[in-house]
Amino acid sequence: MKKFVDVIVPLPIASQYTYSLPQEMEERVQIGCRVVVPFGKKKFYTAIVTHVHYAAPEGYETKDIAEVLDSSPILLPKQYEFWQWLAEYYLCTLGDVYKAAIPSGMKLESETLVEYNPDFEAAAPLPEKEQKILDLLSRDTEQCVTQLEKASGLKNVLTVIKSLLDKEAIFVKEELKRNYKPRTEARVKLANEEADEAYLQRLFNELSRAPRQLMMLMKYVELSSWVTKGYALKEVTKKELFEKSGGSAAVFNGLVEKKIFEVYYQEIGRLDKGIWDTGDINPLNIAQQQAYSNILQCFREKNVCLLHGVTSSGKTEIYIHLIQEVLKTGKQVLYLLPEIALTTQITQRLKRVFGHRLGIYHSKFPDAERVEIWQKQLGEESYDVILGVRSSIFLPFRNLGLVIIDEEHENTYKQQDPAPRYHARSSAIMLASMFKAKVLLGTATPSVETYFNATSGKYGLVELKERYKDIRLPHIERVDIKELAHQKRMQGPFSPALVKQIKEALERKEQVILFQNRRGFAPMIECHTCGWVPKCKNCDVSLTYHKGLNQLTCHYCGYTYQVPRSCPACGGVELMHRGFGTERIEDDIKLIFPEAKVARMDLDTTRTRTAYEKIIADFEQGKTDILIGTQMVSKGLDFDHVSVVGILNADTMLNYPDFRSYERAFQLMAQVAGRAGRKNKQGLVILQTKSPDLPVIHQVMYNDYEQLYYDQLAERQMFKYPPYYRLIYVYLKHRKEDVLDLAADTMAAQLRSGLGDRVLGPDKPPVARIQTLFIKKMIVKVEQTASMAKVRDYLLAVQRAILEDERFRSLLVYYDVDPQ
Ligand code: ADP
Ligand code: ZN
Ligand code: ZN
Repeated sequence: MKKFVDVIVPLPIASQYTYSLPQEMEERVQIGCRVVVPFGKKKFYTAIVTHVHYAAPEGYETKDIAEVLDSSPILLPKQYEFWQWLAEYYLCTLGDVYKAAIPSGMKLESETLVEYNPDFEAAAPLPEKEQKILDLLSRDTEQCVTQLEKASGLKNVLTVIKSLLDKEAIFVKEELKRNYKPRTEARVKLANEEADEAYLQRLFNELSRAPRQLMMLMKYVELSSWVTKGYALKEVTKKELFEKSGGSAAVFNGLVEKKIFEVYYQEIGRLDKGIWDTGDINPLNIAQQQAYSNILQCFREKNVCLLHGVTSSGKTEIYIHLIQEVLKTGKQVLYLLPEIALTTQITQRLKRVFGHRLGIYHSKFPDAERVEIWQKQLGEESYDVILGVRSSIFLPFRNLGLVIIDEEHENTYKQQDPAPRYHARSSAIMLASMFKAKVLLGTATPSVETYFNATSGKYGLVELKERYKDIRLPHIERVDIKELAHQKRMQGPFSPALVKQIKEALERKEQVILFQNRRGFAPMIECHTCGWVPKCKNCDVSLTYHKGLNQLTCHYCGYTYQVPRSCPACGGVELMHRGFGTERIEDDIKLIFPEAKVARMDLDTTRTRTAYEKIIADFEQGKTDILIGTQMVSKGLDFDHVSVVGILNADTMLNYPDFRSYERAFQLMAQVAGRAGRKNKQGLVILQTKSPDLPVIHQVMYNDYEQLYYDQLAERQMFKYPPYYRLIYVYLKHRKEDVLDLAADTMAAQLRSGLGDRVLGPDKPPVARIQTLFIKKMIVKVEQTASMAKVRDYLLAVQRAILEDERFRSLLVYYDVDPQ
């Protein structure tokens, strides 16, 4: 009887697809394996098998699977269950989840761009088909799969490409060039094992007529310290030899042919198989010990526990002790950090304790490395502890025992775009429950939702109020910049008090952090005469000005523009800058303190992992005096010599139109303030604001989280927000504004007929057009006691009805569940 398979394809389509299984593949296919499937005209994708059966689908002719890629599953049963939950809860498709979960190198499709790896050297001759593809790529180093298929005339080219990827002869092209580390390194040695001084001398003579070869040989002798020792003391990499001798491959190959040099390959352990002194664990102090046993106590009754500990109280130390306990039971641990808090500092700290049992999963890693971690987690020797960013919830775990979510309040745990718009905190709690694992949430400033759950008994709550070694919390001084501006006493964005404190700190050789919130403070240009501001032609937003590049860019679609010489509206030539971006602050501070070494940390200066880490390392080592930054400076960093922190403008955070803006502002300011004065000394924070009398400013000054929480809770209840209500945003997009308006009104009316006044809108969101599509938004507010499952079903039913309407054919509908 004929067999069929159901598969998930990496596309945002609702259901799964059924393909027929050619007989010769029947033995090889298993649930969770990847297969290549044709889809649409001339296209093929890597799909994942979820079901093998005998039921021929009705209504369409099935196509055959083209190839089976795996001999064992890469999607484990629990993961699949987790994917299904994600798709259902976040109102997206399994294809969306698949796309987000799996690194590019594991889901090739006909459009995938691959590129040639110039550093690749085959250890053995390649199979003919692979060599053919590689030859094609070496001529034109970047091609898509379809192109290669045509040019080579090969069938099933994906299998060949997969094999080349496994060998790292080629890569999947990524948008950003990342610093890739090869798995093995080509090194050079003398072919003659018994080489001695006399032998070398003879070679030098022989090569006198091949000066470039002679030069390379001499460089080798120098680099390996052969001369001083009489043997090669240091290993020399081929790359280093090329770089230092300025020689070419031809010169080098000449030496290999003459049997002078020999190449060998050394595994260099990209995934850090290095040896670490493990077990180096700090004993807990009394307060920490108490918190630790309270957590264990709490886990007897509850699955989730909140550790509410002030900054620098040693939460990380407590995590380390917990991880060690869980590892003893043979289970795995997932330790989640927000993207920007995953620094070398924390990695080193954990490496020292867990050594090679620790794996790190970062979105800034090259794709090839992420693929390798995936494969490792599927194998026998998987990492026991994964330290990673939100997307590490997708890694294949087999025996999860504990999930730690540090800085649980961070909104970067929520994925905004594209779907699945998941919250890693909620998702990880779900994942843990599938494994019957425990979850520890840690933070100094809990999110209102989490604190609500912890104080209402749903989660456990453990408090840690002492800082380690009793370092005092910083003193926070409030400065009224409205009044000062009125008196014309501000120096750009700096108050006299801040300038004075920076000056004194620099004199004492201490460091300063200046914090500028990113939101609402993008630098722009504006016509002095008529007030014209340049806007993106695809999106409904003003363009951001980048001084370094002297360019205007759109932060929504990435489009860049030249800076106009004159105003296109009135012809005026006086275009001035508006807003204090971090760049502008950097300029201003350099004018006041020309001697100081200043660095800036924001999205633009930290495009790569290395750039980011260098800024931190320089600051740690005292190479920088003043660090200016956005929220990035607030996270997970321990600096010992920072005595002054300046919060340049609290109001930009407070005035942001969002029900969480006070909560966010408090969290950000408390975290940034926590960077001041870590050891031996109380730090000072200068908090500049135009509204010094707001309660939230008072709450920040006295670190009064509880008061903030009660104020917020009262507001949330009154205005129907979380934790009392759940929110779902419904977005509609269309190229034509009138079609969109009609669709939005129609859909809103249908939603209201079932959900009543739980539905608000439709409205125009603040940015009402992105990438040439107009946008409308509706809000659904659901009380805690209502059934979310019913609401979701209803939403989807209405969506189906709307999309079936001829008039709304190319309408896009998507949801943001539990928006942040
Ligand atoms: P948190 O995670 O609460 O911000 P950390 O765990 O980073 O706090 O601790 C702050 C600093 O104090 C770190 O440098 C850490 O090494 C040190 N520290 C905290 N607890 C201990 C301990 N029990 N033994 C040694 N050092 C500790
Ligand atoms: Zn103008
Ligand atoms: Zn744009």
